[in-house]
Amino acid sequence: MTTFKGACRCGAIQFEIEGDPKWIAHCHCSDCRRATGAAVSTYVGAEKANAKFLVGTPSRYASSKGVTRSFCGACGTPIAYQGDRWPSEIHFFVGLFERADELVPQGHAYAAEKLPWLHIVDEAPIDSAD
Ligand SMILES: [Zn+2]
Ligand SMILES: [Zn+2]
Repeated sequence: MTTFKGACRCGAIQFEIEGDPKWIAHCHCSDCRRATGAAVSTYVGAEKANAKFLVGTPSRYASSKGVTRSFCGACGTPIAYQGDRWPSEIHFFVGLFERADELVPQGHAYAAEKLPWLHIVDEAPIDSAD
């Protein structure tokens, strides 16, 4: 079975997903923008049952009602998003993965909140509502 391994910048947090991710998508919402500091946040969604932390435990905080964001307490790298809307899932940031080149996004969420200077030219479907 395919396994995708990931880690934070300093290596204090290491994790893996067994099998193919459930979905991969860009989020353009302003909340993710603040949380990551990046113009766009690209998530790799997995069932919690298929994801495990191999080294370390991320620090976490409630970024809004029903939403928990986690990060490395040592280096500050954003690690994952978990929301009550997707109770069985954990959403990791694509840039943490060793083989991020194989994790191809399938869509754009919250495109209505996208920064106007960012132009989407890929073929992935755009969902402006959410
Ligand atoms: Zn770290
Ligand atoms: Zn978002």
